Amino acid sequence: MKKVTVIGGGFAGLTVSLRLAQKGFQVELHEKSSRLGGLLGTDCTEYGIAERAANALIRTERAENLFKELGLEASLPLESSKKRFIFRSKPKTMPLNPLELLSVALRVVPRMIFAKKTLKPQAGETLLTWGHRQLGKAPTRFLLGPAMQGIYGNEITDLSASLILSPLFNKNRERYKGLLTGPGGMQDLVDHLEEALKKAGVQIHLNSNISAKDIQGPVVIATSAKGASEALQERAPQISQLLGRIEMSSLMSVTLFFKKAQTAFEGFGCLIPRGFDIKTLGILMNSYIFRDRDKVYNETWILGGVKESDLLKLSDEELLKLLAEERFKILGQKDTLVEYRINRWDHALPYYDLKLEEVQAELSQIVIPKDIFLHGNYLSGIGLSKILERSDRLSEEIARTHG
Ligand SMILES: Cc1cc2nc3c(=O)[nH]c(=O)nc-3n(C[C@H](O)[C@H](O)[C@H](O)COP(=O)(O)OP(=O)(O)OC[C@H]3O[C@@H](n4cnc5c(N)ncnc54)[C@H](O)[C@@H]3O)c2cc1C
Repeated sequence: MKKVTVIGGGFAGLTVSLRLAQKGFQVELHEKSSRLGGLLGTDCTEYGIAERAANALIRTERAENLFKELGLEASLPLESSKKRFIFRSKPKTMPLNPLELLSVALRVVPRMIFAKKTLKPQAGETLLTWGHRQLGKAPTRFLLGPAMQGIYGNEITDLSASLILSPLFNKNRERYKGLLTGPGGMQDLVDHLEEALKKAGVQIHLNSNISAKDIQGPVVIATSAKGASEALQERAPQISQLLGRIEMSSLMSVTLFFKKAQTAFEGFGCLIPRGFDIKTLGILMNSYIFRDRDKVYNETWILGGVKESDLLKLSDEELLKLLAEERFKILGQKDTLVEYRINRWDHALPYYDLKLEEVQAELSQIVIPKDIFLHGNYLSGIGLSKILERSDRLSEEIARTHG
């Protein structure tokens, strides 16, 4: 039986290990921490669950099939989650005024119908420049900016339009219909993946901080960009150096449990455009997204990004004070807190900026040793459904070249 080593037990490492084992490989999975899941995980409190990072996957056919295959019941969003708010003096479902809306419709709709290709971003263009060029200033600030900041955890000034938007122009891209998660949250998914790996005979090594130089044979580096740069330092210094140029963005998720539910804004959540002197990037109104997961109303607040990484240094007390002030500014609410969970993620996600665009371009030009395979959210896209897609493709490639 051919052996493959996988470094990193986050969603990328777990899913690629499963696919490789199913293709007949003997898989050794190394995870440096004491648990599997990486950024994925769910804390249980007496008031309900709190997601540590991701709260759901995009519901593609591939994601649905993974849940079925794992025997994991898919928990789907509630009807109330269809409403989404963007802050503009208060949370609004449509933050543009009628004139701004008409102006963007006149700019975009004809091109969508007759010349979609002209909407494509150019290489080296930021999302801000693309937005101003294609949509105008108000839609960029109040729609594009908050939407992208909700996914990439950073304001759009330096984000790469090409990395982020080009996949949308791919005719073969996976269609999606909402979100899905496990009934007990994302930890359910991690637990089911772990069980499936064990059944498939994957050898899992926890507390194993391993370098690629210690491994014989094919190895999949399924860590963050920073982790991959460190793991490859001795075995592939050129790639290690290149990956070391990828800037990592720090983020924080804070779940607040309240005595009383706020009912003024019932929806998925609220995104906050920049320029309002508010640090928070977005709020998830968890109790209006998934059912049966909590005893009291709760929200998850996301903060951070490369320009606001100092927020991670705030003490719990300072952070809760800041959030109470911002909650009053955004939702006009002052409710009693009964519980909270804070997750500070230092160097959590790759910064999808123009530097990453350059690194990806350079990576495609250099010769990567035949037995090294790179996997992770700095290559596939940040979302879990994209990581899953890459796990499938990568395992097929490894089966073709090393099977
Ligand atoms: C606050 C937040 C909210 C998010 N929300 C969503 C969401 O709702 N939906 C969505 O689709 N995505 C979301 N994401 C993004 C998504 O969670 C991540 O992109 C994804 O979990 C990354 O998985 P990964 O396996 O690539 O990396 P990681 O989860 O970072 O896992 C990498 C693993 O590798 C291990 N490792 C590193 N170096 C070594 C080594 N040398 N040896 C052994 N092990 C090593 C690490 O310990 C870690 O466990 C969110 C992210 C954050 C931070």
